[in-house]
Amino acid sequence: MTMQLVCSIEEMRKVSHTLKQAYQRIGLVPTMGALHEGHLSLIRLAKQHADIVIASIYVNPTQFGPHEDFDQYPRDFERDKNLCQQEGVDIVFSPDSREVYKDLHTVYVIETCITEILEGAVRPDFFQGVLTVVTKLFNMVGPDIAVFGQKDAQQLCAIKQLVENLNFPIKIIEGPIIREPDGLALSSRNVYLSEQERKDALCLCQSLDLAKRLYVDNERSAKGIKQAVSDFVGLVPSAKLDYVEIVDGETFQSAHEVGSTAMIVLAVYIGSTRLIDNAFFRR
Ligand code: AMP
Repeated sequence: MTMQLVCSIEEMRKVSHTLKQAYQRIGLVPTMGALHEGHLSLIRLAKQHADIVIASIYVNPTQFGPHEDFDQYPRDFERDKNLCQQEGVDIVFSPDSREVYKDLHTVYVIETCITEILEGAVRPDFFQGVLTVVTKLFNMVGPDIAVFGQKDAQQLCAIKQLVENLNFPIKIIEGPIIREPDGLALSSRNVYLSEQERKDALCLCQSLDLAKRLYVDNERSAKGIKQAVSDFVGLVPSAKLDYVEIVDGETFQSAHEVGSTAMIVLAVYIGSTRLIDNAFFRR
């Protein structure tokens, strides 16, 4: 089957309806484009769980704060389409912003627990924007499964809660973090880094390794581990720690003790580029 490009919501619904009538299991991989191996790994995962894979490419304006990088966010639709084609995506869904957010858009989806801290505290509009657009994409596409990356761990946790609390008949599948050979987590924002910053950005994954080593050496105090990470990031000239936290991987609530389901999450500015990363202690 040659890949189909769908840009209107009405057409997406029609296509989806036809697929459902043919008992095809639909897998959705939501992305903001600027595709990299991380996204492609989610597409491959979707292919394992669904008959038809739909990759959405949409840079969602409502999840960017007023001083964030919405305008500069990397966009290369032709390249993204080619990558999707190569990966065997069946449908690229790229809705027009004017259709997604009409003039009078006053209803948003808000989560009131998981999203209160960390990314939610630092980026006040972010989760409301993400959960709203994910809800809209779910309603437009009607997938049976949807795949999200562990790279955005808090987002993944909030989306699972969204599906659970609002009774979406959709199975959420999570993909592991894909990294460069030297450990840097792939991100569409890595293109902002200068050569020196690219080297300095390794402090994120090295911090996670440091935290895990401390855990293996029987350190169980979240405070102790967070201090060690903070000191480590402090040694890198271009790096500024935004936050480091140890949370329960299932509930995303802060932990004092590092338990068996704990994960470490951090956000670091490398120059003016803000990067995030995370790891479970036990995996
Ligand atoms: P984005 O285009 O950045 O909104 O990301 C779309 C999806 O790709 C989200 O579910 C992300 O969590 C996921 N993703 C981004 N980077 C990675 C990565 N390095 N490894 C795995 N998944 C990723």
